[in-house]
Amino acid sequence: MDYQLNETHELIRQTFKAFVDDKVRPQAEAIDVNKEFPYELFKEVGQLGFFGMRYPESAGGSGLDVMSYCLAVVELARGSMSLAAACSMQSLMATYFLHRFGCEEIKKEYFAKALTGEKIGTICMTEPNAGSDLMNITTMAKVTEEGFIISGQKIWITSATVADFMTVLARTDNHEALSIFFVPAHFEGVQIGKSIDKLGVRGSVTSEVSFDNVRIPKQYLLGNIGEGTKCLFEILAEIRIMTAALAYGVGLAAYEEALEYAKTRVQFGKPIGKFQAISIKFADMAVKLETTKQMLYHAANLCDRGLPRQKEAAIVKLYASECANSICDEASRVMASYGYATEYPMQRYLRDARFTLIGGGTNEILKINIAKELGL
Ligand SMILES: Cc1cc2nc3c(=O)[nH]c(=O)nc-3n(C[C@H](O)[C@H](O)[C@H](O)COP(=O)(O)OP(=O)(O)OC[C@H]3O[C@@H](n4cnc5c(N)ncnc54)[C@H](O)[C@@H]3O)c2cc1C
Repeated sequence: MDYQLNETHELIRQTFKAFVDDKVRPQAEAIDVNKEFPYELFKEVGQLGFFGMRYPESAGGSGLDVMSYCLAVVELARGSMSLAAACSMQSLMATYFLHRFGCEEIKKEYFAKALTGEKIGTICMTEPNAGSDLMNITTMAKVTEEGFIISGQKIWITSATVADFMTVLARTDNHEALSIFFVPAHFEGVQIGKSIDKLGVRGSVTSEVSFDNVRIPKQYLLGNIGEGTKCLFEILAEIRIMTAALAYGVGLAAYEEALEYAKTRVQFGKPIGKFQAISIKFADMAVKLETTKQMLYHAANLCDRGLPRQKEAAIVKLYASECANSICDEASRVMASYGYATEYPMQRYLRDARFTLIGGGTNEILKINIAKELGL
């Protein structure tokens, strides 16, 4: 492992930790219960510069590295996975293609405002019949003299109900491979379905989006026709590392909550943490958290040094999400009935952690990817 956290990293961690402890944790339960997009906190995260961390200063960002970004994501997820999921989507997948390929208008009217949280974006890839099998999408972009006409249906789109713009993966009628398009949410023919009721990350709203002959100009094609998946691959490792950071954050929250409980809950005359059956759970959880952290930093560092990282990104996403789920499960057992009561956050961690098994590619798909990286 060839990395070291520097002063900037420490400053980022402390800044986001303070923000999460002061502002996010006190509201996390309400965000989950109300199942509403946390507008105010989202804007405050924008003011902290989170949405521009990974973009260069010349583009209005702060040009920070993947390590800094991960440290911020971990803290946000430790506070509220709903907020962290919505913010991570905005900071990476919803804005990356605008930065990379957007025309002047897109950059000025949408990208710059998305970096402050003033405008909200989405990435529309998944369809009712194309989840893991993205190559099977049927959303069409018909090529015309003026631009494109988009028709199709997307599902599970994070932040769609509150979005100002969409980045859409679609198939053109003149190319086999997929392309990415920019679509303002207010354009005629864009219809947003109601929020899908979910087990976890309930404040990060997700819904169906349909495109009914939506006409967009030529310059709203992001990148070249047929290069959509190639462009997605550019940020795939970072998406997976970010998902691992989300998992690590929620695992840490569950562990910290249970540890405090084990030190104070007295049964049979002593704190339950003094019983070996309980203390060993913490040793196991600590091992999982430490290993996850080292793997996360290692993968982030590979990105920052421009080294190959696809395999490491898939491995850490898989490992971190499985560990987060097992930690939430064990931590919940430590708190027994209190881990089951909605009054305590443990049940929320348990529900939220499930998302990390799916986001960034399901763990079954990741195992296939890892095996391929091994030449199998
Ligand atoms: C909270 C949330 C937010 C989301 N936000 C977005 C978003 O903003 N934008 C977006 O585009 N999508 C989003 N998604 C969708 C997400 O990316 C997909 O759900 C995910 O890609 C899996 O697709 P699926 O649910 O259709 O499962 P499927 O692909 O149908 O998979 C079902 C099961 O089969 C397994 N499986 C499938 N193929 C194989 C195979 N070849 N070998 C072995 N096992 C296989 C899977 O691992 C899984 O266990 C979100 C999902 C959730 C839950």
